[in-house]
Amino acid sequence: MNTLQEGLVLSHLGKGIAVEAGEQLFLCQTRRKIETVAVGDRVLFSLASADQGRIEEILPRRSLLMRPSRNGKTRPVAANIDNVYVVFASEPAADFLLIDQYLAICENRNIDAVLVFNKIDLDRNENLERELQYYQALGYPLHRVSAADNIGIAELKQALNGHVSIFAGQSGVGKSSLTNTLIPDKELKTNTISATTRHGRHTTTAATLYHLPDGGDLIDSPGVAIFGLAGLTERQLAWGYREFQPLLDLCRFHNCRHVNDKGCAVKVAAENNEISMARYQRFLKLREKMPTD
Ligand code: GDP
Ligand code: ZN
Repeated sequence: MNTLQEGLVLSHLGKGIAVEAGEQLFLCQTRRKIETVAVGDRVLFSLASADQGRIEEILPRRSLLMRPSRNGKTRPVAANIDNVYVVFASEPAADFLLIDQYLAICENRNIDAVLVFNKIDLDRNENLERELQYYQALGYPLHRVSAADNIGIAELKQALNGHVSIFAGQSGVGKSSLTNTLIPDKELKTNTISATTRHGRHTTTAATLYHLPDGGDLIDSPGVAIFGLAGLTERQLAWGYREFQPLLDLCRFHNCRHVNDKGCAVKVAAENNEISMARYQRFLKLREKMPTD
């Protein structure tokens, strides 16, 4: 009898999937398409040899981040994530359209978004500060850190403890610098994954789950920093703007698109400065990229 073990998917390798169970690593195959298994998935697998197995079942996910793939479909990036840490800086200039996009995705995917302002060793930017005050008023936690000067890192570690997290953000904001600060022995760990699961080659672009020395897990996903609006509908995008939520039922028409629709409570609130006009305008921009529902 081959009993099933429960394991955690750490990474995709050249020839299989690295699954951790207890202290041990297994190289697993699957009968499904390999890309349907996501890093962070909890799986049941059967043993094929001392250190190899086969994934028989993916356990229910509490969250799932998707990204578009080449054929226009979406595929999973990471599963069971609790927090997306949206990293930005004053240099390169913060891309608020991208930040809003991440926040909207999280709002719809049962994931808590956390803002990380990196490079605070650089000069203060008043425009950026104004936007940040608004996000904080919406209830988004904000960490001010400097990977370079080791500022705010202890608090960040504390926040990461006990959760599965991922960093997102535009290129150059310091995601890899932060990751390297948080996981000092990262290379050693990836080498261990490759060595233990002998047949697998770990590619540097593969998403990998790391256990943080101070608690919590971080999924490092260098190739897929931007998950896009993958799978969100227009309706979900509007819901993704937290401050719109109490207004959506007040629009005159139940199918209001919140653009130029008569009696749109969202538009009126933006015009009256009850919500941020800048955020509303970014909503309109993102909306143009969306499929209709
Ligand atoms: P990523 O593309 O988001 O992974 O960003 P990187 O970690 O590669 O960092 C991009 C650049 O920003 C590099 O030149 C880093 O040395 C620099 N950088 C990262 N963190 C900080 C910081 O806290 N302060 C300053 N001044 N520079 C930083
Ligand atoms: Zn409306």
